[in-house]
Amino acid sequence: MDFKELGLSKESLDGIESHGFESATEVQERVLPVSLSGRDVMVQSKTGSGKTLVFLLTIFERYLKDRSSKALVVAPTRELAVQIEEDARSFSSSIEGYQIGCFYGGVGYTKQLEEMKEGINLAVGTPGRLLDFLKSGKMDFKSFDIVVLDEADRMFDMGFYPDIEKMFSRMRRREERQTMLFSATLSMKVRNLAWAFMNEPEEIEVRPEEVTVKEITQELFHITREEKFPLLLSILKKLDPQSTIIFTNTKDAAVEAAMRLKLNGYKAAYLMGDMVQSKRLKTLDDFKDGRITILVATDVAARGLQIDDLELVVNYDIPEDYENYVHRIGRTARAGKSGKAVTLADETYIYGLEPIEEFIHMKIPVLWPDECGLEEVEDKSKGMKIKKAKAGSIQNKRPNRKPAERPRDKHRSAPKTRKSAPNAEKQVKKRTEDPLKKEIAGKNVHKVNLNTIKVEEKKSGFIAFIKRMFGK
Ligand code: ADP
Ligand code: MG
Repeated sequence: MDFKELGLSKESLDGIESHGFESATEVQERVLPVSLSGRDVMVQSKTGSGKTLVFLLTIFERYLKDRSSKALVVAPTRELAVQIEEDARSFSSSIEGYQIGCFYGGVGYTKQLEEMKEGINLAVGTPGRLLDFLKSGKMDFKSFDIVVLDEADRMFDMGFYPDIEKMFSRMRRREERQTMLFSATLSMKVRNLAWAFMNEPEEIEVRPEEVTVKEITQELFHITREEKFPLLLSILKKLDPQSTIIFTNTKDAAVEAAMRLKLNGYKAAYLMGDMVQSKRLKTLDDFKDGRITILVATDVAARGLQIDDLELVVNYDIPEDYENYVHRIGRTARAGKSGKAVTLADETYIYGLEPIEEFIHMKIPVLWPDECGLEEVEDKSKGMKIKKAKAGSIQNKRPNRKPAERPRDKHRSAPKTRKSAPNAEKQVKKRTEDPLKKEIAGKNVHKVNLNTIKVEEKKSGFIAFIKRMFGK
């Protein structure tokens, strides 16, 4: 469907044209006629299907009809908020005088407050910072006549429900605003949220049965934990991808993998949720511009990030939440592009495989290293590996799982999940008790980095606190 058939204004069409988009994606085609009429919508559509433009066009069109219109977009992570802001700026470039502000934590308040004083038509932000502004009376939530919740399922995963509740309680009545909700999955929790805060939303699901992205070639290797990194090197050598994201389940594993890849000559970096904001944004820019070709990240750090032309996704650890498998691999095939996803199944996280395969309704094809032409590659970080393996440290510590917070459905096979877990925990304990741990820990470069991060975070948090105290 051509965007022109949607009755959009010239300004919006100019924005679309400047991006070279020829036709609307399915979610755009199905939702825009409803959202442009002013109705509330609750939309499920897979990652990379073009949801951002749905709400941005709805917001712009409303503004073009009524210049006093104000919109709020709430996103779960800073990166996502920044990405939405960037999209909003570029798609609204033909709308004269349109003001956009972006509000997220981890940076000072001054600049964001100034933006707000100048008057904004569109506020994009993360729950924490928005709530700060709400509490301090700096942002009037009653002024918004369009409210968007992006990646609603992620908001739950990240524990933002109480914040969202608070925000909605300070908004105008649901009949007096248009509320739009977007999510890759419509779990019971998301539906309950819609029920509580939306005005008879039209529910639109775009091909929900297609949980995994067709164009992605999926492969899986069964491998021991020790063999994983050498195998990764072999895979990278063979595929020689221009851009790769490697997912790990813990921050420490991400830092270690990134360091070891660097030692092996790759332009690699890690990305994590509690990194200093400026460093996170720089890492992302470096990756987008090709100065870094491999990004190692945890699910939280990578949530909602839009990175195009990704050639390869590696599940270095099998995700513990089966839905994350789809979120992770969905990054290789955005807007119809093809891609490849390789999963390394080791003894620690193997219990996550079955729920994933049930969820995607398929078995991931298994490959064996010696049968698919993978060559052994010298691991230049091998010395480090020995140290690390002995040090153990918190490397393999299992993250806190909060099963109660996550939507359960018929796909999840919880009992199986539990079965192998005690073993994994035992292993971790054994490694942590290694007498060499302390001695070696001090020499671990990545730990120093982690500490620096913490110190910087504390510093910026303190400065923000002081600024807030004095209202600057
Ligand atoms: P989602 O929010 O559903 O995960 P995004 O809105 O981030 O997806 O869009 C994914 C990618 O597709 C972006 O790079 C975006 O610019 C691109 N895109 C969006 N709409 C179109 C379209 N109509 N034609 C081509 N590309 C599009
Ligand atoms: Mg999105």
